[in-house]
Amino acid sequence: MTDSITGTTAAEGAPRGAVTFTSFLIKVASRCNLACDYCYVYEHADQTWRDQPRLMSSATVEALAQRIAEYVVAGSIDRILLVFHGGEPLLFGADRLAATARLIRDAVPKGVEVDCSLQTNGLLLKEQALATLEAADIGISLSIDGPRDAQDLHRRTARGKSSFDGTVEALRLLERHPQVFSGIIAVVDTAVVPVELFRFFSDFVIPRLDFLLPDANHDRPPAGRELEPDRYLWWLVEAFDLWFDAYSDLPVRTFDAVLAGVAGLPSNTDAFGFGDVSLLTIETDGTYHDLDVLKITESGRTATGLGVDNAPLAAAAMSDVILEHQRLLQPSGLASECQRCPERDICGGGSIPHRFGSGTFNHPTVYCREMLALIKHARERVREAISVTSAQRRTPARRLDLSRFDLAESSDGGRRPRRLSRSGRQDRPHS
Ligand code: SF4
Repeated sequence: MTDSITGTTAAEGAPRGAVTFTSFLIKVASRCNLACDYCYVYEHADQTWRDQPRLMSSATVEALAQRIAEYVVAGSIDRILLVFHGGEPLLFGADRLAATARLIRDAVPKGVEVDCSLQTNGLLLKEQALATLEAADIGISLSIDGPRDAQDLHRRTARGKSSFDGTVEALRLLERHPQVFSGIIAVVDTAVVPVELFRFFSDFVIPRLDFLLPDANHDRPPAGRELEPDRYLWWLVEAFDLWFDAYSDLPVRTFDAVLAGVAGLPSNTDAFGFGDVSLLTIETDGTYHDLDVLKITESGRTATGLGVDNAPLAAAAMSDVILEHQRLLQPSGLASECQRCPERDICGGGSIPHRFGSGTFNHPTVYCREMLALIKHARERVREAISVTSAQRRTPARRLDLSRFDLAESSDGGRRPRRLSRSGRQDRPHS
């Protein structure tokens, strides 16, 4: 039988193995108080959000808690992650989020660890809401694209109002609560030069920063590429160099993943490498879905046809949609170009939604050229940094300029030497 997603037969791919869900993306609200023009929920192929209840009902929350409890018992799972998502999950209310976390924690057996987090645009994140979430031990990740001009390019209200001040207020608040601040997600627009972003984000204490390329695929290529085919490639290379030379104390997950890849270590992001499906999305009506970002491909693409009302979570793990996603994450699920690619083991064919085109995922990611260039460039930079370090090690100690060393020590009040970047250069051209 021809597979509906990839256009290949099951026999051509990896054997279909069982999937274990350990993360649950719970869409407690299907609407948003912003109207970001790149949003994968509202602005792409799948418009089924229109038919979803605005908020998840108490009955659905309770049914989901029972489904999760029976699933972790049956699978002897000892740790799960709940991600509260939307739309904007704070439209559900901080109290109800805390109650949902409590309900699920109470439903699972003692000893099962339940980590909780929230992805928010920050506009409703005020002192009281944050206190409630903190008391409920719910981590918070903030979506913000950078300084005002970057944020205002895309992240506006439906009436066109800027969201910058409200989001920065939330960022300042999160900085004061590091125990619940889990990180930032920023979508890249190549019109904003990388140094602007690094200057902005380095003014805050951020536990993790994710730069995301705009969601795109072969049917809907990245904006502006038709006029300037290399714009994303050069943006990434420039951003990587800036980070590597001057801002490496900012934990940028994408670049850490590239470095891990060139060092032969596992990647920690779904934009690189292979893996297993471990996440299930639950819509506000309680239906089970595959990865939410797949909504950029085709209408209904994420639906398993199952939900809390009619099926256990184990049934979703065996659904065609999820098993096909699992197959695509294996080396044998890659397009033939990727199979032959020298960077296959690092890139892994790229993010699955970005591989889509003409009804199939049997393509390299639409950001293939960018992946190749970034990996190659990162490898060269690492080699260069290693050779600089080796040369420095071979330099006899008597050739050190002690007066300059003393000066560097005292530039900081004599308390500590200034930090060096990975390249061995003194870091931060900007404060
Ligand atoms: S760089 Fe391109 S061809 Fe190579 S694995 Fe990645 S997407 Fe495939």
